[in-house]
Parts: sequence; structure tokens; C-alpha cells
Amino acid sequence: MASLQRYHAKRHFDRTPEPRGAVARSRDELRFVVQKHAASTLHYDFRLEMDGVLKSWAVTKEPEADPAVKRLAVPTEDHPVEYAEFEGDIPPGEYGGGHVDLWDQGTWGPEEAPVPAYRRGKIKFELKGKRLKGRWALVRMGNAQTRKKDLWLLMKRIDADDAGA
Ligand code: MN
Repeated sequence: MASLQRYHAKRHFDRTPEPRGAVARSRDELRFVVQKHAASTLHYDFRLEMDGVLKSWAVTKEPEADPAVKRLAVPTEDHPVEYAEFEGDIPPGEYGGGHVDLWDQGTWGPEEAPVPAYRRGKIKFELKGKRLKGRWALVRMGNAQTRKKDLWLLMKRIDADDAGA
């Protein structure tokens, strides 16, 4: 069952303009968003709507639509679906302080039931955004050492119909 407990615990909603939000009802059209976040370290927050929340990863560099380029994606706390509309300034001193820009948004289509795929650590999906389109994957890194840190990779897949990647 999805929860926003960690999201709420990290923030002071009397000080940050971010939405408090609530777990949403599941819908047919699943949203995705990428927010360029100039926090202490610039990163790209990649979020997929799933189970009434936005599952979230901090991607260390701009997502790249080249199947040869894999981007490190560090899981972060689930965000409310309302967060897909957020851009603005998180005040200095608050969690994630810095400027947030909507970098891309649209819908996504999982190729398998998304929650079990997420738990298995391999999500294959299609993006329909303005910048990001076509087939992508998020894959949890496999070796024992990195698994402790729960690191994932975001990667473009080949879009040809016969590509099994
Ligand atoms: Mn962020």
C-alpha cells in the first residue's frame, strides 16, 4: 500500500510551496514527470505514477535518449501525484532547497503490471512526453554491494518493434 509518510516527514508545509498532497486513486492514464532540480547538486527527478503516488528517482544527469547511455537513478521517497505540476523555489534550509523546473511531463505505459515490476527491480515502459518518448527501462543494479544502496539505472531502449531489449 502506497504511503506519503516519508514525503510528509521531510517537509514543513508552512515554509515550502510544494503540495502536501494525498495518495490518489489509481487511474488509467498514468503520469510521468521529470523535474530539473537545482538543489545543492543539480539533478533530474524522474517520477512515474504508480499505486496512487509518484515513484521517484533522482537522476544524476540529464536523461539521454541514446540506448548506449545509462543514467544513475537513486530512489527517493514517493511523492504525491499533485507534485507532477510543481515548479518553483523551495526555500534555502528546507529539504531540497533550490529551484525546480518542469523539464518534461506526459503519460507513461508500463509493459507489465507496474507494482510487481517495481518490486522486482525492472520496469519496462513507454514514455509519451515532450522531450522523452519511446521505450525506456529502469533497472535496479544487481550486485550485492550496490544493492545495499538500492541504485537503479535509467536507460533508453531501442524502439524497433523487434527489439527485445
Ligand atoms: Mn530533487
